[in-house]
Amino acid sequence: MSKRLIFLGPPGAGKGTQAERLAASAEIPHISTGEILRQAITDGTALGQQAQAFMDKGELVPDSLLVDLVRERLQQPDAASGWILDGFPRTVAQAEFLDQLLTELQQTPITILNLEVPKEILVERLLARKRKDDTADTIRRRLVVYQEQTKPIVEFYSDRQVHHINGDRTPEAVEQALRELIST
Ligand code: AMP
Repeated sequence: MSKRLIFLGPPGAGKGTQAERLAASAEIPHISTGEILRQAITDGTALGQQAQAFMDKGELVPDSLLVDLVRERLQQPDAASGWILDGFPRTVAQAEFLDQLLTELQQTPITILNLEVPKEILVERLLARKRKDDTADTIRRRLVVYQEQTKPIVEFYSDRQVHHINGDRTPEAVEQALRELIST
């Protein structure tokens, strides 16, 4: 299995938690575009200033702001032996871009993981998380945005193997399932 992993799945599915754990044990970087954007907002960079209004509303940040960020991050020395992308790609256009980029960087193939969790459970989890963009209104919007813009990526990858994982379990059980999958 390739040590270049992408996590699909809705907000609240546990992508961040699982990506962090797997990255630590595999000693590869966990690259969360959401974290990078939140840090950019905290740092007050131009990227952060451009991204903030979209994030506060639960909308996706325009693709054009993400592509340079990802291109640059995947070329850092620590990403040479593998990486886990969490929160990217989020649109079919981003998935197309990623394919091109990875071909260019000779970083193919990728392992595609799709964490599945029922919608009611997602809402509960997101409300419990108390992140700034986890208010009832933005959660609702982010779930719609996921259905409309992110879920079609699963179809985009239909000619490749997509590993569907039941994320409606304890973090430990999900982690175990992922470890078994990745070690094959
Ligand atoms: P996350 O931490 O992955 O839930 O991302 C938080 C927010 O950051 C999302 O709701 C989007 O506004 C923005 N974001 C993160 N990754 C992306 C991406 N790949 N494309 C567009 N917006 C993104």
